[in-house]
Amino acid sequence: MEIRENVALKDWTWWKIGGPADYFCLPQSIEEVREAVRFAQTKKIPVTILGGGTNVLVSDLGVEGLVIAMKQLNACEVKEEGDRVTVVALAGTMKSELTKIYMKRKLAPALFLCGLPGDIGGGVVMNAGIGEKVAPREFTEITDWFEFIDLSKPELPLRRLNKDEAQWHYRHTDGWQPGIIVRAQVSWPNEADEQIPLKVREATKNRLARQPLELPSCGSTFKNPPGHHAGALIEKAGLKGYKVGGAQVSPKHANFIVNVGGATATDVQNIIEHVKTEVKKQFGVIFETEVKYLGRWSKEI
Ligand SMILES: Cc1cc2nc3c(=O)[nH]c(=O)nc-3n(C[C@H](O)[C@H](O)[C@H](O)COP(=O)(O)OP(=O)(O)OC[C@H]3O[C@@H](n4cnc5c(N)ncnc54)[C@H](O)[C@@H]3O)c2cc1C
Repeated sequence: MEIRENVALKDWTWWKIGGPADYFCLPQSIEEVREAVRFAQTKKIPVTILGGGTNVLVSDLGVEGLVIAMKQLNACEVKEEGDRVTVVALAGTMKSELTKIYMKRKLAPALFLCGLPGDIGGGVVMNAGIGEKVAPREFTEITDWFEFIDLSKPELPLRRLNKDEAQWHYRHTDGWQPGIIVRAQVSWPNEADEQIPLKVREATKNRLARQPLELPSCGSTFKNPPGHHAGALIEKAGLKGYKVGGAQVSPKHANFIVNVGGATATDVQNIIEHVKTEVKKQFGVIFETEVKYLGRWSKEI
């Protein structure tokens, strides 16, 4: 496996933002992920994982150490076992592959997965899902188990966590850190619903109408605070369209910060800080970011 130096990460993030990784590699097997970690351990440098890059803000100053991008660790196997359809997938398999599998069989998970970019590992890490009241609507509901390389042990063992052994929260999963998720099994009852293709088409149409999918973003920037919709509060605070450099609070959906051209991570960070301050000042609500910060940041975030 080639480990390259000084690789621009903006080409690897959905937002098209971010400085270089000191070192960068694309493992194609679980053993190559281990090899990459050992390389970092030998050099005494930190490791950062990049899934589909759809929920990360990479610093303009880049990322120290080794970035392991999961994109080429992708393959999946579908089995129809008893009354369930089971998929075992390597972490870098795109969620869209899962959507295709469920769409073909007209199964309900296609409905929440159809709007989710990124890979399956990122889906487990973030417990990705949608707000609409459909079942299933989050990764926790379809995941049977996932495997991770345990970074706390020198021999870097592969460990499996059954769904109930992990702690699943709103847009966050615990119980596997420090680790690298490398494989997961998801399953769902094999009960075709003839309405699924139509519902998926409608959901896609709604998303296109409501979200600025034509511009680079990270999706929702902030988590919805209990009892509130982050987007509605930002809009009420008068911040729709608020711009810093090449970054803007989307006039279409206030919880999206879009790159309208040449945005830097600092532009986005300045918008995030301003939005947090205004929402706290006007409504007393404290926002928590859903997006993950990667790399070198000069101040605590
Ligand atoms: C247009 C758009 C719409 C979106 N809509 C939604 C939505 O409706 N619902 C929703 O939940 N999210 C949404 N998102 C956010 C995002 O797609 C999800 O959070 C997604 O699951 C992230 O997956 P990823 O592979 O891109 O992860 P990344 O963004 O690459 O990584 C996310 C975090 O996980 C870590 N990580 C990634 N893979 C691994 C791994 N294998 N092992 C250990 N750590 C890892 C990274 O270091 C990072 O901290 C949207 C994003 C965009 C751009």
